[in-house]
Amino acid sequence: MADILVVGAGTAGIACAILAAQAGATVTVLEKDAVIGGTLHVSAGHLSGAGTRRQRDVGIDDDTSDRHFDDVMRLSRGEADPVLVRLAVEEAPHTIDWLHDLGFAFDPSTPAIYLGHDAYSRARTVWHAAGPGQQPASPLGRAIGILETLRPAWDEQVAAGRIVPHFSTALTALIVEDGAVVGARATGPAGASAEFRSSHTVLATGGYGASPELFAELTPGHPRLVTHAWHTATGDGIVAARAAGAAIRDGEKHNYRLGMIEVEPGSGRGELARNFVGLSAAARRPDEIWVNEQGERFVDETTHDITGQERAVLGQPGHRFWLVFDEAALAGPQAPVPAGWDRDAVRARSDEGVVVWRDATPAGLAAKSGIDPAGLEQTLAAYNARIAAATSDPLGRTGTDAPLAQGPFYALALPAGVLVTFGGIHVDTQLRALDTAGCTIAGLYAAGEVVGGGATSGIAFCGGMLITPALSFGRILGRTLAAAAGRA
Ligand SMILES: Cc1cc2nc3c(=O)[nH]c(=O)nc-3n(C[C@H](O)[C@H](O)[C@H](O)COP(=O)(O)OP(=O)(O)OC[C@H]3O[C@@H](n4cnc5c(N)ncnc54)[C@H](O)[C@@H]3O)c2cc1C
Repeated sequence: MADILVVGAGTAGIACAILAAQAGATVTVLEKDAVIGGTLHVSAGHLSGAGTRRQRDVGIDDDTSDRHFDDVMRLSRGEADPVLVRLAVEEAPHTIDWLHDLGFAFDPSTPAIYLGHDAYSRARTVWHAAGPGQQPASPLGRAIGILETLRPAWDEQVAAGRIVPHFSTALTALIVEDGAVVGARATGPAGASAEFRSSHTVLATGGYGASPELFAELTPGHPRLVTHAWHTATGDGIVAARAAGAAIRDGEKHNYRLGMIEVEPGSGRGELARNFVGLSAAARRPDEIWVNEQGERFVDETTHDITGQERAVLGQPGHRFWLVFDEAALAGPQAPVPAGWDRDAVRARSDEGVVVWRDATPAGLAAKSGIDPAGLEQTLAAYNARIAAATSDPLGRTGTDAPLAQGPFYALALPAGVLVTFGGIHVDTQLRALDTAGCTIAGLYAAGEVVGGGATSGIAFCGGMLITPALSFGRILGRTLAAAAGRA
C-alpha cells in the first residue's frame, strides 16, 4: 500500500507527488488521461508570488505576502476565503523559487503587472518565456513551460519507483470505511475496476469546466457552457468527494473570462489564445461600444475595473453581448480584431455572418445578429448625439470618442466564456476535506481547482491565483503527508 494516493497528475497532483516522493514517501498516482499535465497543456500559466528571487533579481524588494494577501482580498472584493488565500500567498514565493531552481525560463518581461485582469499593486506576475512560433513576451503565457520544468523531477521519482503512475485510470468512487477515506476505486485502461488503498488520498482532479451537466448543476442560472477548460476537467473528484460526504461550496461564485468567441456556434468551445479579443481598456482603449441583446449599452467600456465589467455581463440576458463598431473603428488602431484574425478576416467573416456580422445600417445589422433593431438604433443615435454635444457619457466612458456613423456597421458576438470553475470541495487550513457539518473527513485531502477557484480568487480573476495555489497546495500536501507517513 502506498503512503499517499494522488488522484490526478495535473498541476496540483504533479507537485504533490514530486514533493512527497522527494521526502521518501511512496506515491501511487491515478491519471485518467494517457499523459501527465492536465490543464498545464492549455493554461496561460500566469503565476503570482510576492518576495520571489525573480523579483529581487530585477530590483523589486518591497513586495511581501501581506501585500499580496491585501491585493487578493481587495480584487476579490472580500469574497475569497481569507484562510486559504493566506496559505496560498505564504507558499507562493517558495513555489516560484522552486520552479526557478528547476530551471523555469521566465519571460523576460516578467515580473509584470498583468493588465488582462484587475491590476496588482506590485509587479509579481510571472510566466514562462514564449515557445517556438509564439510571439515574444506573449501576454497569454505558456503553462506548458511549467510542465516542461517539472517533468525531469517527476521522471526521476518515477525511475526511482517512488512515484507509480497508472495512466488511463479514472477514479470512480472513494472507498470509505468507518467514516474514513482509505483509498479509491478506479476504472483502468481495459475497463476493469480496481481498488487502490492508502491512508492519505489527495484529490487533484481539477475543475468542472468541461462538464456541461455538472456546470449546470453547481452553477444554476448560468446559460449554456462555452468553455476553454481542458477536456479532463469534468469534476470527477468533486462528485466522488460529495458522495463520500464532503461539502461542496462556492458553485454560485461564478465569473466569466470576457473576450472568447464561439467560432463554431453550438460547439460550446471558446478559446483564450486564438479567436480571443483582448478587452482590457488598460491595454487597448476601445473605440467600439458593447451592447446586450436589447441593443443597450450596459457598462463603461473604457474602465480599468475589469471585474466590474465581468460582473456587468453577469447581469445581461443570456450572459452575452456584442461589440458594435463601424468601418472607421475597424480601420483604426484600436480595432477589436480577435487574435489570429486581421481586419480583412473580420470583413470576410462578417459576410459569412456566423459570429460577426455587417450591414449598411444599424437596424439591418441588429436584425442579422440577433440584437433588438430599435434598441440598437436608439443606442447609436444617443451615443453619437452625446459625442456631437460633447457631454459626459451616462455610463462614465472616458477619453475622446469618434462617432460610430460610418457604415458598414459591425457586430461581433461574445458569449460568456468559462476558463475555470469556482465551486469545489471545502477544505481546512491543512487542506483536509470537510463534511457538511464542518468536520474533517479522515484520510481525504484536496488541492487545485477541485477546491474551487472561489476559494482563492472569489468571484473575480486575481492574477495567478488558480495555478499558483494549485502548485502550492500540492507542494504543502506532498510535504505534510510524507511527514505524516513518517518519511520526511
Ligand atoms: C485556458 C486557460 C488559461 C488559464 N490561465 C491561468 C493563468 O494564467 N493563471 C492561473 O492562475 N490560472 C489559470 N488557469 C487556471 C489554472 O490553469 C487551473 O486552475 C489549474 O491548472 C488547475 O490545476 P489542477 O491541478 O487543479 O487541475 P489539472 O491541471 O486540470 O489536473 C487535473 C488532473 O486530474 C486528472 N483527472 C480528472 N479526473 C480524473 C479521474 N476521474 N481520475 C483520474 N484522474 C483524473 C486530469 O486528467 C488531470 O490530469 C487557466 C485555465 C485555462 C483553461
